[in-house]
Amino acid sequence: MEIEEKVCSKCVLSDEIEGVIIGDDGICNYCKNFKPFVPYGESKLLKILEKAKRKNRLYDALVPLSGGKDSTYVLYLAVKKYKLNVLTYTYDNGFVSDFARKNIDSSIRKCNVDHIWVKHDEKLIEELYRTALMQSGEICGVCGVGIERSMLKISEAWKTPVILLGHSATEENSFTSENIYDQNRLKAIFGANGNISQQFIKRFLVYPDLDFIRSYLFTKTGRFGKKVNILYYLDVPSDKEIGEILKNEMNWIEPDLSKYTRHFDCIAEPFTNYVREKRLNSSRRLPQLCNMIRNNEMTREEAFQICINDKESLRLDNFDPIMKRLNLAEKDIQKITSIPFNVYGNKTSMSNKIFAIARSILKENAH
Ligand SMILES: [Zn+2]
Repeated sequence: MEIEEKVCSKCVLSDEIEGVIIGDDGICNYCKNFKPFVPYGESKLLKILEKAKRKNRLYDALVPLSGGKDSTYVLYLAVKKYKLNVLTYTYDNGFVSDFARKNIDSSIRKCNVDHIWVKHDEKLIEELYRTALMQSGEICGVCGVGIERSMLKISEAWKTPVILLGHSATEENSFTSENIYDQNRLKAIFGANGNISQQFIKRFLVYPDLDFIRSYLFTKTGRFGKKVNILYYLDVPSDKEIGEILKNEMNWIEPDLSKYTRHFDCIAEPFTNYVREKRLNSSRRLPQLCNMIRNNEMTREEAFQICINDKESLRLDNFDPIMKRLNLAEKDIQKITSIPFNVYGNKTSMSNKIFAIARSILKENAH
């Protein structure tokens, strides 16, 4: 018997997606639990930044820069608005778009800041991506861990008191609930490929024994800078308004095609969306679009239209260059997209699970 797919009557989530439950009233659990985001307040942010300045380090803050909109806006706020002495860095995941490179160059010039590029051996990192895809159906966890670890290392080396991040409330729930950043799970996934040396895995992880508890303690004791999601403290302008500010103040350029997408900094993103759409029935931007509907930034009809356009543009033959780089054939993609949800889930670190539960109870450091 075929069960018909149900779509929420408020947003565009379907009950084919893991974790989405649509009630008899036609409304999904995400819409039911949705509360408009209330910023923590600028005065709290100012206190944190003042404390960072008083430490009189070489830099007040580290700003990871992807060349995307949110991180560039964070750099703008940190330097132009809050007058911080900032160090910036970019993790080159091998898929940095030309747009992102230009935006990084122009914004660091505009802000007169120091900047560091971090890049792993290309062949080896591609082997990690390929292994993660073939084993777990996901690629973004590798890049996410690469970004995080280099960020912590730089913060430790230059003793930056804070790390200013550009996550925003619109991006909530935009990642899969699989623990794609869990180190033990990743180690198990990489371990399935005997060609990857333990030495490279250690080099990639930088801190091969880091878990949530150690990370928390290292931050509390000042070894790592305190992570601050600056956009959660402020009334953030709309996407379009941020685009205007960056164009005027940072010589920012934005590709026309990227309307509503925040990740044109990575050329592999459409490919990862394709895989996720096929495998989990949900692209990365679907939850973002739904958040925008709930925040009245977009109508349900507009979101539907974007989803239809996405489906048309997300075609395998558009991804030849990336598939070639990762040495993937069409039959590999079939295998990847049929990998079940939460594969390797039993390898997730127990201490991370306990810490996540404790943190959700204490509500500390939620962002
Ligand atoms: Zn909904």
